[in-house]
Amino acid sequence: MKINLWGVRGSIPTTGPETANYGGNTSCIDVWEEGYLLILDGGSGIQKLVINPALKTKRIDILLTHLHFDHIQGLGFFKSLFDPEMEVHIWGPASSSLTLHSRLSRYLSPPLFPVLIRDLPCKLTLHDIENSVFNIGPFTIQSAFVIHPGPTVGFRITGQHSVLAYLPDHEPALGKNGIIHDKKWLSGIDLALDADVLLHDAQYTREEYQSKMGWGHSSIEDAGLFASMAGAKHVLFSHHDPYRSDLQLNEMFAAFHKNNHYPFKCELAREGTQIILK
Ligand SMILES: [Zn+2]
Ligand SMILES: [Zn+2]
Repeated sequence: MKINLWGVRGSIPTTGPETANYGGNTSCIDVWEEGYLLILDGGSGIQKLVINPALKTKRIDILLTHLHFDHIQGLGFFKSLFDPEMEVHIWGPASSSLTLHSRLSRYLSPPLFPVLIRDLPCKLTLHDIENSVFNIGPFTIQSAFVIHPGPTVGFRITGQHSVLAYLPDHEPALGKNGIIHDKKWLSGIDLALDADVLLHDAQYTREEYQSKMGWGHSSIEDAGLFASMAGAKHVLFSHHDPYRSDLQLNEMFAAFHKNNHYPFKCELAREGTQIILK
C-alpha cells in the first residue's frame, strides 16, 4: 500500500511562506495498491493530485468522510471529473433527508460552481454510505459514523498486507469527562484498532480545546490517547489549524512529545509525504 498526502490543513486553505513546510491545502490523501486508486476526501489538495498517464488508470474511487467545504472544495477542480474516458465513483454519507447526490449538488451547481453535477463529462456514480463495509479492487473498506457535526464517517482501509485508518475530523473526547476509557463506547475505535497508519485530527492544543469543545475536532493530547487505545503503530496528526504557522506546529508537537511517551511512531502530517507499507 502506498499513501500520498496532498492536503492536511483544516478548515480553509492556508497558503504562504509561514505554512510552506506542512502545507496549506485542505484534506486529501490517495492510497494505491495493485494499480487501484482510492482518494480520501476532496479538499483543495485534490487539485494537485496528478495521475501518471502511463498507469492508464480508468477508474477512480473518491471516498468522502463528510461534506464540510474543506473536504469537497477541490472536487470541481479535479481533472478526472472532466475526462469522458474516466469512471469515477464517489462514496459519502447521505443525511436523514437528502441523498449524497442531492447534498453534493448544492456545491456543484450555480451560484457556487458553474457546472452541474449531471453535466460532468466523466462516467460518474454516487454511492450513499453509512456504517458500511464494501470492496474496491484489493481494498476492503469499512466506514462508520464518528463524532463530528453533521453526518460524518471515518474509514478503515484494509489492503493485502496493511491497514490505514483515516479520521481527519473527529472529536472522541466530546462529553463531560473527555475520552471514554471503555473501548466499547469510544467513537471511531473500531476503525483504528491495530492500524499500521492512523491519520487523526489533532487541530488544537489541550488549552485551546477547552474553548472549542463541540466544534468537532481534537486536541493533540486526545488524539495521542485515542491512538494508544487503538494500538496504532504509526500516527499522523492532521487537520492543522489554519491559524498555526510551521513554527507554531513544531512547538506544539515538541510540547506533546515532551509530555507524552507512547510506543508508536508519530509525526505531524505534512503535504507531499509518501508512506509505503509492505
Ligand atoms: Zn475538516
Ligand atoms: Zn468537518
